[in-house]
Amino acid sequence: MVKILRNCFLLCILLLGLLFAYIFIDFDEDPTLNKTSPTIVNDITQLNPIEVTRVVQPSTIEDIVEAIKSSSGPISIGGGRFSQGGQTAYPDSLHLDMRTFNKVLNLDVSNKQVTLQSGITWRDLQEVIDVENLSVKIMQTYANFTVGGSLSVNVHGRYIGEGSIIRSVDSIKLVKANGDVLNASPTENSELFYGAIGGYGGIAVIAEVTLNLSDNVKVKRYTKNMMLNEYKGYFAKNIRHDKSVIFHNADIYPPEFTDVRSVSWLKTDEALTVEQRLIPKNKEYTWQPKVAEFVADSNFGKWMRQYIMEPLLYSFDAVQWRNYEASYDVYELEPSDRINQTYALREYFIPIQHFDSFAMKMAGIFKKHKANIINVSIRHALPDNDSLLAWARTEVFAFVVYYRQETNEKAKEQVKLWSQEIIDAVIEENGAYYLPYQLHASTPQFMKAYPRANEYFELKQQVDPDYRFRNKLWQQHYEANIEMHVDLPNE
Ligand SMILES: Cc1cc2nc3c(=O)[nH]c(=O)nc-3n(C[C@H](O)[C@H](O)[C@H](O)COP(=O)(O)OP(=O)(O)OC[C@H]3O[C@@H](n4cnc5c(N)ncnc54)[C@H](O)[C@@H]3O)c2cc1C
Repeated sequence: MVKILRNCFLLCILLLGLLFAYIFIDFDEDPTLNKTSPTIVNDITQLNPIEVTRVVQPSTIEDIVEAIKSSSGPISIGGGRFSQGGQTAYPDSLHLDMRTFNKVLNLDVSNKQVTLQSGITWRDLQEVIDVENLSVKIMQTYANFTVGGSLSVNVHGRYIGEGSIIRSVDSIKLVKANGDVLNASPTENSELFYGAIGGYGGIAVIAEVTLNLSDNVKVKRYTKNMMLNEYKGYFAKNIRHDKSVIFHNADIYPPEFTDVRSVSWLKTDEALTVEQRLIPKNKEYTWQPKVAEFVADSNFGKWMRQYIMEPLLYSFDAVQWRNYEASYDVYELEPSDRINQTYALREYFIPIQHFDSFAMKMAGIFKKHKANIINVSIRHALPDNDSLLAWARTEVFAFVVYYRQETNEKAKEQVKLWSQEIIDAVIEENGAYYLPYQLHASTPQFMKAYPRANEYFELKQQVDPDYRFRNKLWQQHYEANIEMHVDLPNE
C-alpha cells in the first residue's frame, strides 16, 4: 500500500514537472492584440479587420453630437472591441471610438448610484467605487470591457439572483442619429431604453449611464464535483435561492462533457486570504496563457487540467473581496500570437428545464466535429421580459463556450458548420444564442432566436431612418429584412 501511494505521489510530481517544463520553455511575447492601423478596426480574435474612413475619439457629449451632425454617411461605434464578429465596424464608416469618453460624472454613495460616460471600462470604474466599498452589481467575469459596449449587448455575469445587465441600469442618455440628446429609462422614452440596451449600436449612441451599485463584501470560495446530469438538481437545491451566494458558475470538462465542477463564492466574515482589493491593471501574465495553450493542445492537457491542476488549485481556501473577484484581466488568457490559431467564445441561453437535453446535444455536436473546446462554463440568469433583443426570455442557463480554432479558410468553414448545428439545437430548445460572437447564424436562425427582432427593426427605421448606425451584425440581418432607401456598398 505504501509503495502504491509513493508511486502515485511520484507520478503526480512527474506530471507537474512536465507541465512546468511545457509552460516555461518559451517566453517570446508578441503582443499583436487589438493591433490596428489608424483606419482598420479589428477585434480580439483578429479575424475581422474592417477599414473605416475616419475615427473620432470623443471626450464630451458635444463631440459625439458634432461628429454625427457634421457628417452624412454610415457611423459605427466601438467600445473595448471585444465582440468577435465585426459588431463594432462597417466598411467606409465614420467610427466613434468611445474609449476616450470615459469619465465618472457623479458618485452618489448614499443612494449607491454612479453616473458615467459610457466608454469607461469596468476596471477604471472599480478604481473609483472601491474606495467607497461599493461594487458593480452586474458585469462580466473580466473587467476590460466598456460600460457602453456591455449595455449594448446586455451582458451577464456570474451573479446569482440577477441576469442581464439591464436589471442594474437606472437610466441612460442617448444621442440619436439626428444629433438629438435625450434621457431614457423604464419610465421615460422606454421604447428607446429597451431598444438601445442590447441593441448593438443600432438605435443610438449610449452616451451617459446611471447604474445601481452593490456593497463590496468579502466572499469565500466553495467547489464541488459532480456528474453533469446531477447539476440541475444541485443548482435548484443549493444555489438558486441562497442569498449568500454572490458568484456562481460550473465548468463542464471537455472532451467527454460528463463531469462538472461547481464554483460558488459566498458572503463571509472570515479573514482574507488575498489582501489586495483589486487585481492590478497591466499586470504581466506569463504562465497563465501557456496553461490555456497546454490545455488546448491535447486531450492529455485537458486531463491534466481536470485531474491534477484544478484539484490542486481548489485545495486552497480563498477568501477575497467581491471587487477583487470581479476585476480579472482578459490578457491573462492572451496567447503569444493569433496568426495561425485564435481563441474565441460562444454562448447559448437555454430555458432551465431544457438544460440536460441541450447539454447532450451540444456535446454530441462538439464531438462529431472534433471542435477544440477548452471549457464550457454554466451560468444562470433570471428573465428579461422587456428588452427587444432579450436573450433570456425565460429563466435560463447560459453555456459559455471557450474554444480554439485555426485561422485558415477551411477551419473557418468547419467552425461555421458546428456553430449552425448548435444554433439549430438551441432553437429546438426554445433558447437563444449570443450575438457578440462570430456571425455564423443565418438570418432565419437569427429571427427564430430573437422573435422580437421585427419590433427592433421597426424602432430602428423610426429613429434612424437614414440607416446611419451600422455594423456587420446589422449588415447581415437588418439589410436582409428591411427595404432600404439608402445606397449600400457592393460587397
Ligand atoms: C474573454 C471574454 C469574456 C467574456 N465574458 C463575457 C461574460 O462573462 N458575459 C457576457 O455577457 N459577455 C462576455 N463576453 C462578451 C462581451 O461582454 C461583449 O463582447 C461586450 O460587448 C464587450 O464589451 P466591449 O466594450 O468590448 O464592446 P464592443 O465589442 O466594443 O461593442 C459591442 C457592441 O456594442 C456597441 N457599442 C459599444 N459602445 C457603444 C455605445 N457607447 N453606444 C452604443 N453602442 C455601443 C458596438 O457598436 C457593438 O455593436 C466576453 C468576451 C470576451 C472576449
